[in-house]
Amino acid sequence: MQLTTCSVRPEVEDFSPYSAGLSIDEIREKYGLAEVIKMASNENPLGASPLVQKAIARAAGGVFRYAQSGNPRLSAALAGRYGVRPENIVTGNGSDEVIDLLIRARVVPGKHNVAAFNPCFSLYKLQSRLCGVEFRQAGLKPDFTFDWDGLRARIDENTALVFITTPDNPSGYCPPRSEVAAFAASLPDGCLLAVDEAYIDFCPEEKGGEDAHSLLPDLVRNGFDKGNTVILRTFSKSYGLAGLRLGFGIMPALLADYLRRIRPPFSVNVLAEEAGLAALEDSAFRQATLETVAEGRNFLNAALAGLGCFVYPTWSNFIMFTLPSDYPEGAAEFFEALLRRGIIIRRLSSYGLPEHLRLSVGNEMENKAFVRAAREILGRPAA
Ligand SMILES: *Cc1c(COP(=O)(O)O)cnc(C)c1O
Repeated sequence: MQLTTCSVRPEVEDFSPYSAGLSIDEIREKYGLAEVIKMASNENPLGASPLVQKAIARAAGGVFRYAQSGNPRLSAALAGRYGVRPENIVTGNGSDEVIDLLIRARVVPGKHNVAAFNPCFSLYKLQSRLCGVEFRQAGLKPDFTFDWDGLRARIDENTALVFITTPDNPSGYCPPRSEVAAFAASLPDGCLLAVDEAYIDFCPEEKGGEDAHSLLPDLVRNGFDKGNTVILRTFSKSYGLAGLRLGFGIMPALLADYLRRIRPPFSVNVLAEEAGLAALEDSAFRQATLETVAEGRNFLNAALAGLGCFVYPTWSNFIMFTLPSDYPEGAAEFFEALLRRGIIIRRLSSYGLPEHLRLSVGNEMENKAFVRAAREILGRPAA
């Protein structure tokens, strides 16, 4: 039998595939290039930790086994690292999975709504829509800082879940943690706040670093279990494991228990679990990553400003910018011209920002190659 029509839920018909950045192979083929540099998806500029690679190789012979459901070893290691109980941790196939579980566990279609800023990370909206749930957004301020009052005004007694991203994607902005704590305290009873801290460890030291921005220390001190807050973290960025898919949430134990009940049992596979354990041990690699990002960020901030771009202040491992007004060709042409030179960055049209661009901080070679290419495209003389 051949399927000529296929009826699906109306929410599903409206979906198109996730618009990820372009892949290195696609661009290499399309433009006949030998080398392609990808600065589009905020991946780790140093690659994967050698210790993690060894741990994956050691574990390879064990892939015929199912992982231990719930990943108790990894949850215990994470609990130890962050000073919480293993009962507060839910691991997932990327933090994407934890986002999905939170929405599906919390939100009653037709009754509840989910709220976030606009623009925001697309997964919050996609998974809410897939669940048939109203997704409410409040605009950011024109400088991409947070309009807390605007977001609070969108929230009512039926708001089951609010997502915020600190530092924010795609702007790179991060509010001080006192603002996040005040917002959490302002929410009505029964409204859960998910704070996505995927990039929090990149907060610059000169701006107070992670300590001045993460809500985690407060929550650890006060106890997660009494609060209304979930912290989302990932191994995809500073730990360099984007392709392996590993993330986690730290949350009240009662909520974590429900998420563990509905979670597909083996979504964090045996290699991801071993890699996560090894990555937590390799503090030297993580430190080198943070230093590489800090240096590269200073270099790129200065270089982009020197080329006449408008550079938004960033607390993260990426930089949002717009092009100088004497380059009327615009973001689409600049982006294409970079592709022809073998450099992939991220356009932000899918965030509703057609003239903004996002550049992930690379390693020294990549950052210099980007600046050389940008100088050429914008017609600036070599420095
Ligand atoms: C990259 C990113 C994540 C991490 O997603 P994973 O599924 O863990 O790879 C989460 N939130 C935001 C805002 C991100 O940009």
